[in-house]
Amino acid sequence: MKVYKFGGTSVGTPDRMKEVCRLITEDGEQKVVVLSAMSGTTNSLVEIADYFRKGNPEGASNMVNALRRQYHQHVPQLHDTEEMRERTIKMLDDIFLQLHDFRGREFSDADEKVILSKGEIMSTNMVTNYLKEIGVKACLLPALEYMRLDYNGEPDVAFIRERLNDLLESNPGYDIYITQGFICRNADGAIDNLQRGGSDYTASLIGAAIRADEIQIWTDIDGMHNNDPRFVEGTTPVRQLNFEEAAELAYFGAKILHPTCVQPARYAGVPVRLKNTMEPSAPGTLINNDLQEGCIKAVAAKDNITSIKIVSSRMFLASGFMCKVFNVFDKYKTSIDMITTSEVGVSLSIDNTSHLATIVDELKELGTVLVDEKMCIICVVGDLRWSNKGFKSLATAALRDIPVRMISYGGSDHNISFLVSMSDKKRALRALQTQLFSKPS
Ligand code: ADP
Ligand code: ASP
Ligand code: MG
Repeated sequence: MKVYKFGGTSVGTPDRMKEVCRLITEDGEQKVVVLSAMSGTTNSLVEIADYFRKGNPEGASNMVNALRRQYHQHVPQLHDTEEMRERTIKMLDDIFLQLHDFRGREFSDADEKVILSKGEIMSTNMVTNYLKEIGVKACLLPALEYMRLDYNGEPDVAFIRERLNDLLESNPGYDIYITQGFICRNADGAIDNLQRGGSDYTASLIGAAIRADEIQIWTDIDGMHNNDPRFVEGTTPVRQLNFEEAAELAYFGAKILHPTCVQPARYAGVPVRLKNTMEPSAPGTLINNDLQEGCIKAVAAKDNITSIKIVSSRMFLASGFMCKVFNVFDKYKTSIDMITTSEVGVSLSIDNTSHLATIVDELKELGTVLVDEKMCIICVVGDLRWSNKGFKSLATAALRDIPVRMISYGGSDHNISFLVSMSDKKRALRALQTQLFSKPS
């Protein structure tokens, strides 16, 4: 069985929902289909929660009503029959009533998660109702019954596998199983989520749990491009990526894939295919274990990075210095992305700055500390094993006119990373595009 996932844009209007239904039914194969909320909905729900949190129930109510009006307009466009229209309206109105119900009481983080879960619940019910209306044997699998986090906030893989397979077994004979991306329960059973953009993760966890033949991530672009299309013109789709290459690109900013999404599929050995809902016949990108040797695949960029340099003469020929530095980051659960060292100093980059002030304070006991904010990691990904000559110098040469704060290479066989100022990001991405991917004329 295959797992298909459709993002917010792919289910962003009733017409798009119908197109998704055509896509998932045309080959007649049984599949699990993961859906995001309609595009913009989760952002609206975040805003509604924010109004409640700020003690402004009127602001929240106005937004809930606006969202309700929007969804009500979708119903006659989605359904032809009065019966289904009524059923969908009732489902939606139950949810909007629940959203109004948060007024007049203390608002908590748990409440926010309940509110955020409603987008996927609405979209999956709408699509399931439409499928039933057109005579497809469709079954809605509630993610809240099988998708769960453990006490470390990580997916409880054994639980997910057991519950999901049980659910599928107890609901045999359907053509399409629709389920919600993004939402889950925590270890205590309360509603939670897999972080923004986490529907990709849901699809990958499901693919691994049911040992799917393939996981297809359908979005609004024809696969992973060789550079960020939001900042660089003339990017082209990459036909194939190794799991590790895809993981590096996702982690370092290629928004098409959620950073956590590659791991479950990779461990289970399930290939992932990135496809374009707007152009279904385009081949997209296949992610699997193959490695195209001697090939640079793509460039990605991750913003809002902070670099920290610790300079100390005590580091020179002394053991244990690095351990003390790492301990400070570990103590504040702050993970390090890039690291470079010299005899007298070490530079690190982090993206979570919630404990920056305390970390800097403690590092001052070890040396002189210098902080640079608003930095950006530019990551070049491909077959970058050290024995491959020329690629490192090619990438470095592209950045000849751009000030580079750190260079990290050799940590993996698939990446070389440059830390530059965020204000130089576009220039750096474009320079790399020209140098690495423009064919000589
Ligand atoms: P969805 O809502 O379907 O999950 P996303 O917006 O999360 O879709 O991801 C798709 C978007 O990712 C594309 O529209 C594109 O702008 C952006 N993107 C960023 N980097 C890349 C890249 N290297 N290749 C393809 N798309 C990328
Ligand atoms: N709807 C969620 C979000 O907007 C999850 C997703 O789309 O993947 O973040
Ligand atoms: Mg996404």
